[in-house]
Amino acid sequence: MTQRKKLIAGNWKMNGSLSANQALLSGLVGQSQGLVADVAVCVPFPYLAQAQEVLKDSAVAWGAQTLSEREPGACTGEVAASMLQEFGCRYVIVGHSERRTLFGESSVVVAQKAEHARVSGLCPIICVGETLAERESGATLNVLKSQLEPLRAGLLTSADFVLAYEPVWAIGTGKTASPEQAQEVHAYLRNWLVERAAAISLEAQQRIAGVRILYGGSMKPANAQSLLAQPDIDGGLIGGASLVLEEFLAICRAA
Ligand code: PEP
Repeated sequence: MTQRKKLIAGNWKMNGSLSANQALLSGLVGQSQGLVADVAVCVPFPYLAQAQEVLKDSAVAWGAQTLSEREPGACTGEVAASMLQEFGCRYVIVGHSERRTLFGESSVVVAQKAEHARVSGLCPIICVGETLAERESGATLNVLKSQLEPLRAGLLTSADFVLAYEPVWAIGTGKTASPEQAQEVHAYLRNWLVERAAAISLEAQQRIAGVRILYGGSMKPANAQSLLAQPDIDGGLIGGASLVLEEFLAICRAA
């Protein structure tokens, strides 16, 4: 069986200030020794330089929350992969439900962003998830499949990406998928990846076993352990709790 090192990634969303970040980041550096899991924080663009400065000699990685799928040039307001590289980012979140809903990012665009991140040397954290209405109508797995479908063969072959299952109804709501609900979906996602990679090549199939699938949606210290104990849950994408040092560290320690 493939051993996958767990990853706990914080998604700060549109939160932070220079002074609050300083306390959070230096607290993380000071207290993250001895953690078994990989740890990362995905911060707003203006704070990347600060994250790089504070985290550069630590085991904590950093990244951004989106990127452009285009090359640098005439694209006002966008941020290119090469710029994220210059600030030492390892990760970039793509396809978060807030980007899909508020900014109309389709699964095709999300797949383009993921591939662009990968070829630029960044590790995309690709988010997928269903709404409450979709879950209640029994459409969850079909929705997830349609979100995964546009992912490129190059990305699947490289296996240099992270998938995050984030049920939209659990994000920022305090409602969490039960460990069983989450595991059922993670197993489906794992199978989808394996089947798709197997259709590309044996090498792709072997590599894809190492892809980590994170759970996101109101993960807190109180529920982290039971979620992270599931065989196909390889870590967490943490929103609200990543802004509170003690909560984020407690989740990291549970992994
Ligand atoms: C998120 O925004 O990715 C997230 C999981 O948020 P929260 O943990 O606050 O539900």
